[in-house]
Amino acid sequence: MKALIIDGQNNHDWKTTTPLLKKYLEETGLFEVTVATTPPKNSPDDMWSGFAPDFKSYSVVVLNYNGEDWPAGVSSAFEAYVRGGGGLVSYHAADNAFPKWPEFNSMIGLGGWGGRDEMSGPTMPYSNGKWQPDHDRKGAGGHHGKRHPFVVANRNPRHPVMQGLPERWMHGEDELYDSLRGPAAHMTLLATAYSAPEFDGTGLDEPMLFTIAYEKGRVFHTTLGHGGDAVHSVDFIVTLQRGAEWAATGKVTQKVPADFPTAEKVSLRP
Ligand code: ZN
Repeated sequence: MKALIIDGQNNHDWKTTTPLLKKYLEETGLFEVTVATTPPKNSPDDMWSGFAPDFKSYSVVVLNYNGEDWPAGVSSAFEAYVRGGGGLVSYHAADNAFPKWPEFNSMIGLGGWGGRDEMSGPTMPYSNGKWQPDHDRKGAGGHHGKRHPFVVANRNPRHPVMQGLPERWMHGEDELYDSLRGPAAHMTLLATAYSAPEFDGTGLDEPMLFTIAYEKGRVFHTTLGHGGDAVHSVDFIVTLQRGAEWAATGKVTQKVPADFPTAEKVSLRP
């Protein structure tokens, strides 16, 4: 299958993470990966004319992008691609992008920063076995406390992406996103993490991995993977690989590797 990674603008080190994402997808043996890089910020319009991916020729698009709006023709082609049944993976700060693009926010379900606030939609903490949409809470959407290793809890062990993964595992040092907001429609929760007040968190179980059904499209959203240990953490790699396959096909054929972390110990690959 063909996969497309989009990068080029980000407040994160996309020049380091894109080659890792590409390697991880190719290691599955399922994907042939192309990278489309946008022009840098403040580029003249004619440079943007070179950014026109043929989305529909891909099985999955992975966003490693958090930057300026795309040209209108690119945005509308992207919407048509996902609406028509395309696969999409939103990776970490990709959910910071495009706060004013309603269809994008519907695709990713929840996002953060970029001026998002209660007008963007509810926050979606988890308790008592389900999402608990908070429509009353005011304030900014998107926050994280101090980076630290943390436990991720599998909340949907029957979902293809999560089947065979342990109930809990340790994720390598990362930003634990909290208070994301968005339209929050047609979402399926896969995994949460407790955002501990001692690390400047919310004291709530926050969504880490989830999916969104956007028209006929399948979207896998991972909030994980800031950089450093986070992008070498085996659970990040495996959930990205499985999420990408699921977004592309609706199924997961990959086995869970023996080095998947336990509830006690982080597992990193070089
Ligand atoms: Zn980050």
